[in-house]
Amino acid sequence: LSEVLEHEQDQPSRTPDGHDMPLMVNTGLAVDAVASLKSRIGGVGLYRTEVPFMITERFPGEQEQTRLYREQLEGFSPLPVVMRTLDIGGDKDLPYFPIDEANPFLGWRGIRVTLDHPEVLMVQLRAMLRASQGLDNLQVLLPMVTNVGEVDDALRLLERAISELGEEGVVVARPRVGVMIEVPATLYQLEALAKRVDFFSVGSNDLTQYLLAVDRNNPRVAELYDACHPAVLSALARLAAESRALGVPASVCGELAGDPAGALLLMGMGFEALSMNAPSLPKVRAAVRRVTLEAAKQLVEDTLRLDCPLAVRRHLDDRMGEWQ
Ligand code: PEP
Ligand code: MG
Repeated sequence: LSEVLEHEQDQPSRTPDGHDMPLMVNTGLAVDAVASLKSRIGGVGLYRTEVPFMITERFPGEQEQTRLYREQLEGFSPLPVVMRTLDIGGDKDLPYFPIDEANPFLGWRGIRVTLDHPEVLMVQLRAMLRASQGLDNLQVLLPMVTNVGEVDDALRLLERAISELGEEGVVVARPRVGVMIEVPATLYQLEALAKRVDFFSVGSNDLTQYLLAVDRNNPRVAELYDACHPAVLSALARLAAESRALGVPASVCGELAGDPAGALLLMGMGFEALSMNAPSLPKVRAAVRRVTLEAAKQLVEDTLRLDCPLAVRRHLDDRMGEWQ
């Protein structure tokens, strides 16, 4: 089977009824290995900038960050690279920036940290912008957004970074900016967010964790953690429809996008791109190439009628079995 899938990897990610489903890749380290996929993907849907930060001994400086980001942007150019600003806290700690909290997933995380430390965010934004000079494929993504005020603050810092660099003779284009939809509150503020940013990227890992109030890393409650819970699927379906109505492209970069059944559901809901870890690409591409958009829409409709996670899983397994 893996040989068959491998053979298909140079084929377009297109359904039998002609719908193109762009597949993108999530990156962190090892740009070389992933960049070789360039001809098979639509770009980088999520570059987790905290990953390289986790293996250094202190915050990398502007020059060092510029080098890291240039490697990503150049490696995948002209494809877009969505760079997420530092998403530490929760389960991701930097050895040189410990955060000790009773409830880390509900605490100082993502943009909450970097807005409290604008000097850290400014260095990062300046480095991203510098790295993008002459390439034009940078997109900036803001993690763990809860309030529109956080987006406004981050956008102000971005404008400041652009003008500072301009004064230093480094002229850069303003990148497209997106918000991670992973805190449930944002599901109810899409219109306000749409006025401020260019795209939405759904973090289904955290969105599931927060909608279900289940720690994504706690084995004791692992059985409850399920992105195919009817409440999560219903939230995702509404989000896709509303984003479309608002004219804001929405994609998914959480694990659900790398699961073939999940990917088909997301395609049927109308998400515009799916971003996943590189090893998931072959099986998701194969699923897209076997199932029509119409069938995927029907799958969504049938699945949304089910009221418990177990029934959803069973239904998805049955259908996937038929499509193999
Ligand atoms: C997510 O939450 O789904 C996501 C993609 O981000 P991370 O896994 O890095 O929190
Ligand atoms: Mg997340």
